[in-house]
Amino acid sequence: MKKVPYRINLTEEYIPKQWYNISADMIDKAPPLLIPNTRKPATIDDLSQVFCRELSRQELDNENAYIDIPEEIRDYYRTCRPAPLMRAYALEKALCTPAKIYYKFEGNNTSGSHKLNSAIPQAYYAKQEGLKNLTTETGAGQWGTALSMACAHFGIDLTVYMVKGSYNQKPQRRTVMQVFGANVIPSPSNKTNSGKAMLEKLGKDTTGSLGCAITEAVEHAVSHENTRYVLGSVLNQVLLHQSIIGLESKAAMELYDEYPDIIIGCVGGGSSYGGLIAPFMGDKIKKTHNPYFIAVEPKSCPSLSRGKYSYDYCDVGQITPLAKMYTVGSDFIPSPDHAGGLRYHGMSPIISKLYDDKLIDEARAIEQTGIFDAAVEFARIEGILPAPESSHAIKVAMDEAVKCRETNEAKTILFVLTGTGYFDMSAYGAYMDKKMTDYIPTNEELKNSFEKLPEVE
Ligand SMILES: *Cc1c(COP(=O)(O)O)cnc(C)c1O
Repeated sequence: MKKVPYRINLTEEYIPKQWYNISADMIDKAPPLLIPNTRKPATIDDLSQVFCRELSRQELDNENAYIDIPEEIRDYYRTCRPAPLMRAYALEKALCTPAKIYYKFEGNNTSGSHKLNSAIPQAYYAKQEGLKNLTTETGAGQWGTALSMACAHFGIDLTVYMVKGSYNQKPQRRTVMQVFGANVIPSPSNKTNSGKAMLEKLGKDTTGSLGCAITEAVEHAVSHENTRYVLGSVLNQVLLHQSIIGLESKAAMELYDEYPDIIIGCVGGGSSYGGLIAPFMGDKIKKTHNPYFIAVEPKSCPSLSRGKYSYDYCDVGQITPLAKMYTVGSDFIPSPDHAGGLRYHGMSPIISKLYDDKLIDEARAIEQTGIFDAAVEFARIEGILPAPESSHAIKVAMDEAVKCRETNEAKTILFVLTGTGYFDMSAYGAYMDKKMTDYIPTNEELKNSFEKLPEVE
């Protein structure tokens, strides 16, 4: 057999021509989005008031397993894809493990993360529909950056509501978005009624949250002409676009007769992990393979491991559809000391359903100092500066590889390294200066948050 190179670089012809829609192959589908006031399943017409029409259609598609990728989207993908699949020989050696470790590296574009995979189609479909403006929210800033790039490419104006804590912590992220032409507003802001109400309630010093920023971005979209809202994670359509991660990974591994035994990824809203696992999960559902799936989340925002599987709002202002998901409650605001990302209160309905059905085998929650230990070790060994989010997957991949050493098993491990950490220097700085602390919400805090979950049924 051919020796696997350090870096498997597929050529452009390997960029998938179709996304893979895992919903179509799921035997039990994720429960539908509900309209808040009627509690009826959202239709394409309902969703199209907020989202682009084609994206609304994709959101509700439980039938077509494969969806064509328009050529203009593939052309933009060509500038940075296929993303390399790395074989972590150096890490395997450092850990003295018989395990084979692979990672899909999604940090090779200017936005520095996988988010561009969905930003491109979302901006493209908006343009096809004749829209002139998009709004969105961004937390750590990767989504806002990716969408700014895509909007610049397709000639669409973009307004980004950026969580105020990040806006202040990461001024350079804001500048990158501005370079790509976006209008960036710290949230909560006084530009929207919901923002004003949140400032009133939380005080002007609040660091904000993703849930707040979403409410503002949606209000802005529905109150302006020719404007729609787009979201960078959580939704089925975003997992669909991200399936390109899994499809390329699978194609690259097949060239070397490899198939993963363990598949690991970090989960914020679950889009990169949903995209990575999609084709492998399809195999598991069809019973042709049985890989072990581990989703990794921060202990400070533990939606899968300590949340409830319940209908919840996707935003604080409760104007978005209700989604059935693992959630810590839409009011939950993670500690401002938490710098490791993955701060969203809920989880993709598809990931939630797969986890509830035990098709995703395990959710593991890690405290942030452990994440940065792994990030720094990985950086020194593999020569990539990982995003803190991605380092959740790195940490668990390393732990699993160490277990293989102890049991002397040569398992094949695959994880997605979602992005680079160049804009996370203040978090790395806190870690290097030993000033980083761990924050784990108490049962009491979660209980208070669960009490506010909406009643459905
Ligand atoms: C946004 C982001 C994540 C988390 O989002 P998912 O939707 O769960 O993938 C992880 N890593 C990086 C680098 C990100 O930018």
